[in-house]
Amino acid sequence: MIVMKFGGTSVEDAKAIERAAAIVKGRQAQKPVVVVSAMAKVTDQLLAMARAAGAGDRKTALKLCRALQERHYNTAGELLGTALFTQFHSDLGVDFEALDELLRGIAAVGELTPRTTDHVAAFGEMLSSKIVTAAFSAHGIESALVDSRDCIVTDNSHTRAAPLFEETNEQLRTNLQPLLDKDRVPVMGGFIGSTKAGITTTIGRGGSDLSAAIVGAGLGAERIEIWTDVDGMMTTDPHLCPEARRIKVISFDEAAELAYFGAKVLHPATVLPAVQKNIPVYVLNSRNPSCEGTRITARAPHCRNTFKALAVKKRITIVDVAAPRRLLMHGFLKSIFEAFDRHRVPVDVVSTSEVSVSLTTDSNESIPALAADLAKLADVKYEGRKAIVCLVGENLRETPGIAARVFGELADVKIRMISQGASEINLTFVIEEDAVPEVVRRLHKTFFSDLDADVFA
Ligand code: ADP
Ligand code: ASP
Ligand code: MG
Repeated sequence: MIVMKFGGTSVEDAKAIERAAAIVKGRQAQKPVVVVSAMAKVTDQLLAMARAAGAGDRKTALKLCRALQERHYNTAGELLGTALFTQFHSDLGVDFEALDELLRGIAAVGELTPRTTDHVAAFGEMLSSKIVTAAFSAHGIESALVDSRDCIVTDNSHTRAAPLFEETNEQLRTNLQPLLDKDRVPVMGGFIGSTKAGITTTIGRGGSDLSAAIVGAGLGAERIEIWTDVDGMMTTDPHLCPEARRIKVISFDEAAELAYFGAKVLHPATVLPAVQKNIPVYVLNSRNPSCEGTRITARAPHCRNTFKALAVKKRITIVDVAAPRRLLMHGFLKSIFEAFDRHRVPVDVVSTSEVSVSLTTDSNESIPALAADLAKLADVKYEGRKAIVCLVGENLRETPGIAARVFGELADVKIRMISQGASEINLTFVIEEDAVPEVVRRLHKTFFSDLDADVFA
């Protein structure tokens, strides 16, 4: 069997869902399990209505909800035609009634907890999976809707819950294998799961890729396909740099570094379940399905170029923590990291000196509270509007003088932090966000112009 995951843009409207149906139809003999994201932008909209309701603004929340309802009804109507849609209408109606009621409840209490946030966010994938299943059936694919909350079992860290693999694998086998045995195509929403007690959870933004990898690993898939809106993993974000080229093959390690440092084409955690089972992952374009995309494998072939790709992560804040000398003691770093952990603020890049530590994070909303907490230990400053730039390539390990070439190229750019070595395959630094377009353009021109034809398209 194989897993085929379609991202938000690949199910964004009726045309996109029809393209997905055609792609799945062509692979039916390989026994696909289909994992879908919410339609493009829907998760953002759901979170916006949850926040509005949480702030007591019932009117805005319900207005957003009605717009969402209209979009889903229109898409389903277009896909199914009048007769089928009339039957299907009430299926979606149940969800929108529940969402409406939930938003009214949140607005009445005027409080939005992470647990309730998950309840609201989960509607995106619940709705898209229902529509996609109905559309597949209308296109002659024998499909079956599977509720992901019956399959993906997680802990209870709401909004970024961690999967419990043992329980999940058992549920996957029980719920999906019988369908595959009957040649049915199971369709499930990514991103959502539930706790052992059955409470709805979500596994973090962009998490449908991870859902696909969990399903693939759990059922021992031959491969996992991540269908998106670009030709594969590229040398850099093609929306940032039109000269970006497709990477034909990349290693799990390289792909993981890129994803971690901002290449959102793949969720950072996705490759782990795949690596453990050595299942190849492909990134493919649902608008250009004949393109070979990118194959992510345990070991990539030899490559002439030092770097495979350049990732950028914007909206980063640098937090500087300086210990007054008298306080400098054993355990200083530990207490800093504990504070980050308490506030659930993830750290990306770290650099330290004897008396101070600089850390970066993308979790901007939580920083004021974190800084107030850290101020009890040390002097704290923070500054937003930064970006992490990360060059990745396994050849970095063996190539001397690389840092000199990179920073020589950027001699006039203000570099705030530098990190190399943690994984030996990335060179990472922090710059002002405004400098990103120029820095990407220059680095791409220097390091990605003359490319090895075996590895790049
Ligand atoms: P999906 O909805 O399919 O999950 P995402 O928006 O999460 O899609 O990811 C696809 C986007 O990732 C692309 O449209 C592209 O702008 C961005 N991206 C960033 N870095 C890269 C890269 N190195 N290669 C390809 N795409 C990239
Ligand atoms: N719909 C979720 C999000 O937008 C998960 C995903 O698309 O991967 O974050
Ligand atoms: Mg994504």
